[in-house]
Formats: sequence, structure tokens, C-alpha cells
Amino acid sequence: MAKTDFPLIFERGKEGRTSYSLPEMDVPEINLEDEFDEAYIRQEAPGLPEVSELDLMRHYTALSNRNYGVDSGFYPLGSCTMKYNPKINEDVARLAGFSHIHPHQDPKTVQGAMEIMYDLQTSLSEITGMHDFSLQSAAGAQGEWSGLMMIRALHEKNGEFNRTNVIVPDSAHGTNPASVTVAGLDAVTVKTNENGLVDIEDLKRVVDEDTAALMLTNPNTLGLFETEIMEMAEIVHGAGGKLYYDGANLNAIMGFVRPGDMGFDVVHLNLHKTFTGPHGGGGPGSGPVGVTEEFAPFLPKPVLTKKDSEFVFDYDRPESIGRIKPYYGNFGIYLRAYTYIRTMGAEGLKKVSEYAVVNANYVMRRLEEEYALPYSQHCKHEFVISGKNQKQLGVRTLDIAKRLLDYGYHPPTIYFPLNVEEAMMTEPTETESKETLDGYIEAMLAISREAKGDPELVQEAPHETPVRRMDETTAARKPILRYQP
Ligand SMILES: *Cc1c(COP(=O)(O)O)cnc(C)c1O
Repeated sequence: MAKTDFPLIFERGKEGRTSYSLPEMDVPEINLEDEFDEAYIRQEAPGLPEVSELDLMRHYTALSNRNYGVDSGFYPLGSCTMKYNPKINEDVARLAGFSHIHPHQDPKTVQGAMEIMYDLQTSLSEITGMHDFSLQSAAGAQGEWSGLMMIRALHEKNGEFNRTNVIVPDSAHGTNPASVTVAGLDAVTVKTNENGLVDIEDLKRVVDEDTAALMLTNPNTLGLFETEIMEMAEIVHGAGGKLYYDGANLNAIMGFVRPGDMGFDVVHLNLHKTFTGPHGGGGPGSGPVGVTEEFAPFLPKPVLTKKDSEFVFDYDRPESIGRIKPYYGNFGIYLRAYTYIRTMGAEGLKKVSEYAVVNANYVMRRLEEEYALPYSQHCKHEFVISGKNQKQLGVRTLDIAKRLLDYGYHPPTIYFPLNVEEAMMTEPTETESKETLDGYIEAMLAISREAKGDPELVQEAPHETPVRRMDETTAARKPILRYQP
């Protein structure tokens, strides 16, 4: 990341310079005082810089160059799946037949769009081994909430109002316990054992007649596959509970195993992660929810179905948890996910998982040379290393993350999951070349050597970015959001 010679447009204006040319006025000029209350009339000019069109263009181009995204470099942010978003997705999403339709149109006039949504539901059902899908929800977290509301609805229908406990591992993504709470249920923690997996004995201890569900990510947030999932499913189902699958990151298992076959009753997927929807400020997202047949009556309505040869929105769903998103959700993301699935095909999606796992293991094994590895078995699509060796030299994980910026890389997720000291959660994704991975590995190893030889260099990083180290508390509490001379 090179230092940017940033053109501060506010300081570069020259009186009389403009970026626009308007045709001559051909209507009578109005007298502001006659038309508006005096309180609404600006007394002083706003003080905008007067610049040429070219200067204005350079200002915005310089701002956009300060952005870092998947299209500019490696982005190994764990639990986020910052993979390449193929540009063919954008072509399809922009086709006039899709981008010009209006959500208030009669369904009879948008049968093609509905067919794509229907096919996407069917594909997702097949990929996950579920009976049916609803595309409505706009984010992973909203999918979690919808799924939990369906689980709650089923227990309540059975008169089991006591089933309010949702068991969540201590390594879970933060949205899991949050969604449980928002759904009016109670999160109960199950411990992780020394191998980074759910502690089965502890699970047996917390499961009881008040259990609504076990909420699980598999592979879990440490990037490790829960090998005893079938036994866990038996324990929870045996006690009358249900299994919720957080499938935000399906990158590791697509084409190999399916949540439905592991015993899960309700799942959500993040189309904006695994299925190449742009995300990370670039949204909008999409977090479809899949269910077994037992849960189908509770799906958000309207449910998109096929009657004879016509696609219809079925509102006649008395047990539905209701509508959770206006119109039909974020249709543009469906098109991108659908295009991705169709261009990859079944074999391609399987390759995705293969490469994602191989890439993660390659990076993990090479970083092991300098960084502590809390769980030593092979990982799936992501892994967690610890900066505790470096911390003993006075270099914290935050410093390492900041130093990575000088090397031109987005840092991994840091200080998460919470159960690993100085955690660095890294997800290389399948779309990166070996050369890119090697570049990142070399940077990480170099930073560790710097921590030994010249710790201040790391502690004071970043040195090469337009903005140096920020006071994070002040930045969050008193952000400076506009130009100040
Ligand atoms: C990203 C993620 C979520 C939340 O998804 P959002 O779309 O950000 O709400 C939930 N669980 C896991 C494991 C995730 O990685």
C-alpha cells in the first residue's frame, strides 16, 4: 500500500472554477423570500470548494484508491469468506429483464425471475440436503433469527413452552447467542474440549427437557470439523431438541457432506459469503433458511411454490412465522448466487471445498514455523493461530495485524474466537493462487522475525498507510466524519 499524495480538494479550490455547465435559465427567476420562510433560507454560502471537473474526478478516484477490497488484494478475514466475486455475476444481475422489474408487478409478468428464485431454492436444498428453502432473509443473522423462530413455533405448537434453551458452543460466532436472545430464547454455553471440538460430556450435562435446540457451525469457528456430530444429533434429538446449522461458511464441505445428512433440522446459508455475493460494506446480503419437511409449515411467507406450471407466492400459510423482509428479499444477490452455482456446477462446487481446505492447511502448516497453533489437527477452510509467542516479546496480535497493512495485506480476524489467546483466524479461500499465499506467508514470517529483532517497528505500525495507528476508542466514540480545516 503506497503512501497516497492525497489531493485535499477543500484546500485546492480557486474562486470561479466550476465542475458543471448548466444551460441558460429560461424560466423566471424566483425571489426566495417570497417563496420560503426566512428561517429556511441560508444566510451564508456553504463554503464548498470551487474546483474543475478534473480536480473533482481525481478527488473521488483518490478516495476510492484508499479502499481495500477483494479486487485489490488478499483478504484472509476468518469467518467472512472474502473470496473472489466473479464478474459474470454482475453482468447477469444487470440484465434489463432482471434489473428493471418492479416488486409490485403482477407475479404473472415476472415468471422468469420467479423461476430463477425457485431453481435457487431447489439448488440450495440439494446442496444442503434440506426439504425446502426460503430466500427472504437479508443476512446470516436474520436467517439465524428466522430459523430459531421456526424452532420456537414448533415447540409451542407441541405445547412445550418450556423449551427455551438454545445450546451454543463457547467458540460460536457472536451472532449466534445474539440471535437466540432476539428470538426470545436463552443461550446456554457448551464447552470446547482440548481438541477444539464440542465437549460431548458437557453437552450431555446441559441438554435437558428445556432444550429448544443445539446451534452449531460445522466446521466450527476454529475451522475444525465436529467429527462426533452424529452422536451429538442423537443426544439432542433424543431429548426432544432440534439442531440448527449455521451455514454462513459452507466453503469447506460443499459437495462432500450435507447438514441435512448430519441430522440438522434448520440451516441458514450466507449467499454473500460462500456463493460469491459481494459483502463487507458492499452488500446487501442474503441469508436463506432451509428446513426439513417437519418445519416447512413455519417458513416465512409468502412461500414461492410451483402450481401446475406457474410460479406463485403462497400466502395461505397459517403456521408461518410471517413475513420477515419486504417484497422478496435481495433479488440481485439471488441472481449472483444462481449464476455462481450454474457456472460452477456440482463438480465445481466440490472443487471449491477441496481448494479452500488445501489452501488453509498450506498456510497454517507454514505459519506454524513462527506462530503457536492451539489445535494441531488438520483444519477445514480456516484456522486459528495464536500470537502468544510474539506477545512475550511485547508485540501484540493487534500490532501484527497493523504491520500486515504495511506489507499490503488485509489482516486476518483477530481476538476471535474468544477461547484462544491472541487469536488470529485466517481464511485464505479457494480463489487465491499459491504465489499470493506464499507472499502472505512470507510477510507473516517476516513480521515475527521483526518482533524478535526490532519490536518497535511492529508496535508502531502501520508506517505506510495514509492514516497511521488510530486510537480505537476515540475513533469509535468521537469519530471525525467530515473535513475540518
Ligand atoms: C458471517 C457469519 C454470520 C453472520 O452473517 P451476517 O450476514 O453478517 O449476519 C453468522 N455465522 C457465521 C459463522 C458467520 O461467519
